[in-house]
Amino acid sequence: MNRPLPEKTDIIVVGAGLMGTSIAYHLARMGADRVLVLEQGFVGAQGATAKSLGGIRTQFATEINVRFSLASKTVFENFEAEFGIKLHYTPSGYLYLTGSDRGRRIFESTAALLDRMGLFAEILDPEEIARRWPFLETGNLTGACWTPQDGYYSINEVAQGFAQGARRLGVQIHEETKVTEVLTRNRRVTGVRTHTGRIIQSDWVVNAAGPWSGLVAASAGVDLPVGPLRRHLFMTGPFDRLPPLLPFILYFDSGWYMRREGPALLLAGPSDNTDSQRTFSEKVDFDAQEWTAEQSIQRIPVLENAGILRGWIGHYALSPDRHAVIGAYPELSGFVVCTGFSGHGFQHSPAAGRVTAELIVSGRSETLDIHPLRPTRFREKDLIEEPLTSFKNR
Ligand SMILES: Cc1cc2nc3c(=O)[nH]c(=O)nc-3n(C[C@H](O)[C@H](O)[C@H](O)COP(=O)(O)OP(=O)(O)OC[C@H]3O[C@@H](n4cnc5c(N)ncnc54)[C@H](O)[C@@H]3O)c2cc1C
Repeated sequence: MNRPLPEKTDIIVVGAGLMGTSIAYHLARMGADRVLVLEQGFVGAQGATAKSLGGIRTQFATEINVRFSLASKTVFENFEAEFGIKLHYTPSGYLYLTGSDRGRRIFESTAALLDRMGLFAEILDPEEIARRWPFLETGNLTGACWTPQDGYYSINEVAQGFAQGARRLGVQIHEETKVTEVLTRNRRVTGVRTHTGRIIQSDWVVNAAGPWSGLVAASAGVDLPVGPLRRHLFMTGPFDRLPPLLPFILYFDSGWYMRREGPALLLAGPSDNTDSQRTFSEKVDFDAQEWTAEQSIQRIPVLENAGILRGWIGHYALSPDRHAVIGAYPELSGFVVCTGFSGHGFQHSPAAGRVTAELIVSGRSETLDIHPLRPTRFREKDLIEEPLTSFKNR
């Protein structure tokens, strides 16, 4: 049961998705006192976390993303020892496909980057792709990048593990408590106002509000270009005309992807970065279902025999360069953001929580260099593009 909301605390974390719970856990583990998490809904039950597919890959085009994956992987592999919860892992591998020369060039530079970092990635020609996965249509492909060391976890246990771990260390998590305003005075954070009008004083406010984080930042008077990007997902019924263990298959050029979910299949619908997709709407569009069926059958013709049973919407926290945003603003002391993970925040949540906590407790991140992820990079026009996403490629 929740204790009553305090009038004053040391650190407020806004949002109890993967980021908020991970940050709170790491803060408490580093000895921070009086950490309060405020969540408008329930722990991990809405936003990006609730819809995540749990993929973890080393296959990124930028070194910083690979480093976040590696730092987080160690935590997932030792999750039971640290959190007392056994995670379910599927060693599917990640298979990125492309039909373009640009895609092939990005795959080749990604494979070279991974090689320099001592990791494995294999570039495959269409003939080899067809030999290994004969169910794939390879006619229009220019190549693939295959990382067999990648896979996916069951995700709910991770958010719950962080939250339980944080509570055990004394963190208070208040659900159904929306932050309506971040309060500031003389370029300093002073606390928050909740939806009941209640004011809680605090010297630190951490914005871990995922797709809503741009709105939370605006209430503090700072600019954070992170907002929702809708993604349709569809689930088939049990389908045994494909192998039980399939790669996580992504088509770089259109943003379509697919992975197994038990005996069924999860198929990704369109995720165009257009105005109509940048909303919090949960409406499933029939056009999206058609697009998904077409893309799926083009790539895997046997899917003509699979029926779509249901569809839903997930909201990514999209940043302009599809990299996370972690850090503070020089003009507002005490306000820290950790958001914008654009489709790879599950796999980076352990490391992201840790570096954000380090920033608050020690004044700098010791685990990883997060300077390239600072929120001021947008106004400084110092963006770092990640082309290997699960969205339609630009
Ligand atoms: C369809 C889909 C598939 C994905 N697949 C993968 C994958 O395979 N691998 C991977 O690594 N990542 C994946 N991701 C991304 C990953 O899920 C996210 O990056 C991660 O969950 C982000 O967590 P978060 O805590 O930043 O945001 P969220 O989970 O959205 O949490 C933010 C929380 O803040 C709360 N909140 C917002 N505003 C307020 C407020 N004013 N007051 C109080 N609370 C507030 C919300 O209710 C929410 O609970 C996927 C995302 C989607 C949408």
